[in-house]
Amino acid sequence: MSIDLPLWFDPAKCLIGGHWVAPAQGGTLPLYDPSTGAQIGEIARGTGDDIDAAVSAAEAARHGEWARLSAAERGRILLRLGQLVTERVDELARIEALDVGKPLKQARADAVALARYCEFYGGAADKLMGETIPYLDGYTVYTLREPHGVTGHIVPWNYPMQIIGRSVGAALATGNTCVLKPAEDACLTALAFADLAKAAGLPDGVLNVVPGLGAEAGAALTAHPGIHHISFTGSVGTGVMVQEAAAKNVIPVTLELGGKSPQIVFDDADLDAALPFLVNAGIQNCGQTCSASSRILVHRSVHDRLLDMMAARYAALRIGPAMDDLDVGPLISAKQKGIVSGYLDQGADLEIAAQAHMGALPDGGYYVPPTLFSGVKSDHALAQSEIFGPVQVVIPFDDEDQAVAIANGTDYGLVASIWSQNGARQMRMARKVRAGQIFINNYGAGGGVELPFGGMGKSGHGREKGFEAMYGFTTLKTVAAFHG
Ligand code: NAD
Repeated sequence: MSIDLPLWFDPAKCLIGGHWVAPAQGGTLPLYDPSTGAQIGEIARGTGDDIDAAVSAAEAARHGEWARLSAAERGRILLRLGQLVTERVDELARIEALDVGKPLKQARADAVALARYCEFYGGAADKLMGETIPYLDGYTVYTLREPHGVTGHIVPWNYPMQIIGRSVGAALATGNTCVLKPAEDACLTALAFADLAKAAGLPDGVLNVVPGLGAEAGAALTAHPGIHHISFTGSVGTGVMVQEAAAKNVIPVTLELGGKSPQIVFDDADLDAALPFLVNAGIQNCGQTCSASSRILVHRSVHDRLLDMMAARYAALRIGPAMDDLDVGPLISAKQKGIVSGYLDQGADLEIAAQAHMGALPDGGYYVPPTLFSGVKSDHALAQSEIFGPVQVVIPFDDEDQAVAIANGTDYGLVASIWSQNGARQMRMARKVRAGQIFINNYGAGGGVELPFGGMGKSGHGREKGFEAMYGFTTLKTVAAFHG
């Protein structure tokens, strides 16, 4: 049982106060390769004791050298970190592919995005400004943007590098210190990133990483009275618990939760241009993407034609182990495979418009066939629940109003796309559809780190990515000086 990678850090340790330490209670958790189901190592099982130590280290660090660095100096550290990530992109991609099971190319894109977050927030660190406010005669009034202090970051397993980049990157740029709790199913790149941050010159204690179970390390972090802000990405159920814990300590929380994102295809859409986006947005990372497009809403007049086109694309999908770098890898875990298989069973009464061919696959891997259902009513469980697997449903509509009603007819509101050549319709739909990001004639816009991202409804609140995230990681102080 060994990890077939040249790891330059020990995954059974936590990084606390700049030191690699074994968890206080000495626990470990098994590390599985989703592509084969084999146990390949052990990771640290941090608990409340380690969270206590990490919060203390972050508290001390926020009053130390870190507090005296200028914004430009903080930015330079992030830029150096971005450079170190860039130098290690291929290694990070291999680590992530092994840990998460995503095809190598997709893992590499995540590593490149992590470097971009470091560059973006490194460059932005000294560009966040307060305002002067015109006020009564004899006063000068201005605002200061100050860091919250110690920030907690709870990250899921589906895109560890991207989510750490956007959350920790913005928190560091604005002068906070961080305690990061990566997911128990995928924590290797969080540890790798923290080690690179140390090498980039981040002072000890500014970024601490405690891997462990959600119910242990995660719950201890969210309830900790020494935390001043929490950024959580994960499921709605856990998000509710995190928000309740934050409410008890009266601290702000950013929630990035799930989605049931629609792509809305009108009769005047360029179907050939739309096709790759329609399918890729459903199967990327084996459908385990918060912004996956799991609902394809299509105008009835082009429904059959589009279905044929999508079916042909599904038939061409290649599925296999992450390191084979095909189109679709395994799901993250046996648990997730059970959940997705349960949804496929719920679709037994539906028409399967397409299902990818599975071929010969390693026995123990967590594979499921990418599946496209058609003729789905918008209130069916498969059209309402976040499946978090490679499952898409096609729902026909007759006019714009009906498309809006179906698009907005779930609890979620994360992203949506509109496929149409009609400019006025694009604008109307962009206003009417409830989602934090709207894409017109594309889906995802390449995932740009510059673009504010976050949800409406049960998809969460607060915004990450772009400059907007830096407002969320700061608190505003108003200074009113009377000078006569
Ligand atoms: P999850 O909520 O089970 O776990 C997410 C993180 O929370 C993990 O690190 C986990 O250890 C931790 N956690 C679990 N229980 C906890 C508790 N009681 N207290 C504190 N922390 C706890 O979600 P998951 O299964 O890891 O991820 C899948 C979900 O995440 C999906 O619903 C998906 O949509 C969502 N997600 C959202 C985004 C986004 O940006 N909106 C991105 C990725 C994933």
